[in-house]
Parts: sequence; C-alpha cells; structure tokens
Amino acid sequence: MPKTYNELYLRARTALKAAGVESYALEARLLASRAAGKDKEAFLRDLRLYTSDETEEKLEALLQRRLKGEPLAYITGDWEFYGLPMKVTQDVLIPRPDTEVLVDTALKALMGRKMDARILDLCCGSGCIGVALAHELPAARVVMVDVSESALEVSRQNIRLNRVNRTVCLRADALQKPPMSIGEFDMIISNPPYVPSFEILTLDSSVRDFEPLGALDGGEDGLMFYRSILQYWLTALRPGGLMLFEVGEDQAASVRALMREAGMQDVFSVPDTAGIERVVVGRRPKN
Ligand code: GLN
Repeated sequence: MPKTYNELYLRARTALKAAGVESYALEARLLASRAAGKDKEAFLRDLRLYTSDETEEKLEALLQRRLKGEPLAYITGDWEFYGLPMKVTQDVLIPRPDTEVLVDTALKALMGRKMDARILDLCCGSGCIGVALAHELPAARVVMVDVSESALEVSRQNIRLNRVNRTVCLRADALQKPPMSIGEFDMIISNPPYVPSFEILTLDSSVRDFEPLGALDGGEDGLMFYRSILQYWLTALRPGGLMLFEVGEDQAASVRALMREAGMQDVFSVPDTAGIERVVVGRRPKN
C-alpha cells in the first residue's frame, strides 16, 4: 500500500514517541524529510503526496539507527552551532550549546580591539569554534588544528559551508610541540578532550557509544591536554595574548591553578547557562 509523506511522518513520530525520544515530533520530521530527500519546506508542501517504497525503506533504516540510540546529528549529518549550519560525522563531537559560551567569551574579549586578530582553534574537531569566530570576525585570521585528519576534513567542509575566509586547517598534536612554522597568535582557544578516562564508561550511551573517544578522553584526571597546551603551545601565543579553554564540570579551579602555574595573568572563569564554570581565560604576560 503506497503511503503519503504524512503517513511516513506519523509512523516515525509514533515510533520515536513510544521509545521516549523527547523531541519526537521534530525528529520525526527531520528523519522523514531526510529519507525523502526534501528540505523542510518541500516536505511540508508535499505531505499529501504519495511516496515511494524506496523512501519508506530509507526512513525505516534511519529510524532503526535512531531507536538504537544514535544521536540525530550523526544520522542526518547536520547540526547547528552559534546559529550556523554545521556538518558532523562520527569523527567529531557534536557541537554542544555549552561551547557557545566559549565563543561568546572570545568575541567579548576581542570586540573593539583587534578585529584582525590571529586566532588558533586547537583540537578543533568539527571546526565549530573557529568557523563561528571567523564568521563573526571577518577580518580575523583563524588557524584550526586537530590531530585527526578525518576531523580536519569535517572542519574544511564547515569552512566551505559557511563561506568563511582567511581560515586554514592544519594537522598537529596538542600533546606535542607546535610546528615551528605556526607563528604567533593573539588568541589560542581550545575545547580539548577533558573527560577523565575512568569516567568515559559512565557517560550517557548516546555519547559513549557513538562520539569519538579521542575527542573526549582527557587522560587520568581529565587535565592532560590543559597541561600539555600550557607547556608546549604558550610559545605560539604572543606576549599579552589570550588563552581560552572550555573545561568540564568541577575542573575550572584546577585549570585556573594550572594557568597561574604556567605564569598566566588575569585568570578568570565564566559560567555557562546552567551556572557551571565552563570557560577559563588567562593572559600571557607582556614580558
Ligand atoms: N562536553 C563534552 C561531553 O558532553 C566533553 C567535551 C570534551 O571533552 N571536550 O561529554
């Protein structure tokens, strides 16, 4: 029996609701329009039309992935960060709303000062931070670094998708010294892996089973990347330049202490919308 697009949508909606998916209606529409290969407007316009068996099978496959707990972002490949469209694959973390606080803090620090700042997004993953900054600061020059070539591939896609200029991707390891040629930055911004290794198993299964562990695992105490960046990458920050980190819950005090030990000045932290200290900022002394 041929079905209409609306019937497909309702089938997805019922299945997601029964599985306890919170935004079942929205997700059903996104999955059904993805299976149909139509954007939101076209899907709504065509609700009464009959669909093909192929579309029905496609939706069933997408639905099964979602019902097994795979995050919607990986199934559709599309997400949004800082109001911008972002591509995601399982090679990168899905951008979190918490990370928007990191971008806000960076913009606040740069606004009205150095609009053509050189910014390094270290451990860039999907590139969401670097792309959002490049989008907001068209004169800035942004270098995005990750150890994973497949993550850089996603970053490049997001650079193209958002048509940001003066932005380049470079492969390097935050746990080692930066390449000599990288130059000096006015700002280094990073959301590195920060989950303590032993806590990985306790993460929600939608994170643990689908997101890349290399982007989450911050070593024994979760602070390995902060130590390494402060040890090796400070040389890439110009005197007077700013270092901004996203940190995990309960890590802000330790990361502030690490910054001060590394000789950083004006160290402070910023809470996210849930009141958790999410961002730690420090300045490299002028001399
Ligand atoms: N915030 C991520 C989480 O939900 C962790 C991100 C990171 O390690 N940088 O687990």
